[in-house]
Amino acid sequence: MFNRVLVANRGEIALRVIRACRDLGIEVACVYSEADRDAPYLKLADKAICIGPAPAAESYLKVQRIIAAAEVAGADAIHPGYGFLSENAQFANVCRECKIEFIGPPEAAMQQVGNKDRAKQLAKLANVPTVPGSDGILKTPEEAMQFARQVGYPVLIKAVAGGGGRGMRVAHDDAGLVTGFAQAQQEAEAAFKDGSVYLEKYLDRPRHIEVQILADKHGNVVHLFERDCSLQRRHQKLVEESPAPNLPVEVRDAICAAAVRLVTAANYYSAGTCEFLLDRDNRFYFIEVNARIQVEHPVTELVTGIDLIREQIRIAAGEHLGYTQADIVQRGSAIEVRVNAEDPFHDFRPNAGTITKWQPAGGPGVRLDSHVVTGYRVPPNYDSMVAKLLVHRATRADAFATMRRALREFIVEGIATTIPLHREFFDTPEFIAGAVDTTFVERVVMPRFAAKHG
Ligand code: ADP
Repeated sequence: MFNRVLVANRGEIALRVIRACRDLGIEVACVYSEADRDAPYLKLADKAICIGPAPAAESYLKVQRIIAAAEVAGADAIHPGYGFLSENAQFANVCRECKIEFIGPPEAAMQQVGNKDRAKQLAKLANVPTVPGSDGILKTPEEAMQFARQVGYPVLIKAVAGGGGRGMRVAHDDAGLVTGFAQAQQEAEAAFKDGSVYLEKYLDRPRHIEVQILADKHGNVVHLFERDCSLQRRHQKLVEESPAPNLPVEVRDAICAAAVRLVTAANYYSAGTCEFLLDRDNRFYFIEVNARIQVEHPVTELVTGIDLIREQIRIAAGEHLGYTQADIVQRGSAIEVRVNAEDPFHDFRPNAGTITKWQPAGGPGVRLDSHVVTGYRVPPNYDSMVAKLLVHRATRADAFATMRRALREFIVEGIATTIPLHREFFDTPEFIAGAVDTTFVERVVMPRFAAKHG
């Protein structure tokens, strides 16, 4: 096992990794930017090292500074969290060259699944259904148009390096395709330094179902069942739950088996997620692999009782999983809401600033993953998530009741958050019935919310 882990991240996931290290009896060091100097979780680390100014490009994304921090801290492993360098195979490679274990998948697997187009090719080889799409990168709008006419509009232009909904455009006709193509390329070039795009059929009101995977370095692969992440805005998840409601058991089993086939084919280890879309006839299509821990991992921790960060660390240290698929059960119903420092009454305007009152929810069935305390200043430089509020109950109906109660208890003052919108979700009949899709928030909830509060 490792002696000391360096956390190369910030916010709630930094705290989450610190906690996992403590639970395992491992020392832990943490990096921070000047904007995070006063972050309360830094006091929980054995060492905290400043790696530069606020902009991520000058701190959390600076490979040399993070490696130097690991050396100063005497860390023998680095946990990258999510975002920042977590899916950067080159960073993983530098870590290993410096004899520091990267707590994540092997570089070869990261390279294979990190590119959406390559991941789709792999899925096909593993006999996993994919969304009908252009085979490979499209160079010109004319090429794209040819394909779009073949499969029929609407189509989705996607960046091969995409993530966080960036470099993605829907096109409903030739004209929209020409403008969307250029926009997606530009956005992808700016965000990922890779402007390559491809095309997919834009599925009509699909659900988003993903499967959590764990694999060790000895060839053992298990899945930890599914999460339903259909409540989204602009292709970004807002709420996640497990099990997925109204999912026939044979469909669930088929999706989980497909995910296992896919990561096995990639010679993958560590934690990972295979994402799928489900159409209205319950046919599923692979869209991408997230080769890292995800924001919504605690949903799975609650229903399976398995600590995923602990497992990532154990796997990186070379330990065996120590259990088989038959040992993993899904118990009860878990739901997570992402509390973002954004104003849902004003087009989700980011709300950096000082939190004057932070009164979190608690009590039976509630878990809160957050790095925030009263007086905390939300910096404007990073992702706006300030907390993940989770509930776990025996049934989905009970979980909804506890979430309603928790959202009522949770009081944040000084900045606007998405809590009022979450309260609306849990009173929405279609969501209560488990009958939503990835377009539901924008199509149905936001107009109702605006009418009510307009
Ligand atoms: P990113 O990596 O940027 O998050 P994903 O490929 O994971 O992008 O897709 C994010 C979301 O975009 C999905 O959950 C879904 O809502 C939507 N989406 C992606 N591909 C399609 C598609 N072919 N048809 C319809 N919606 C899609």
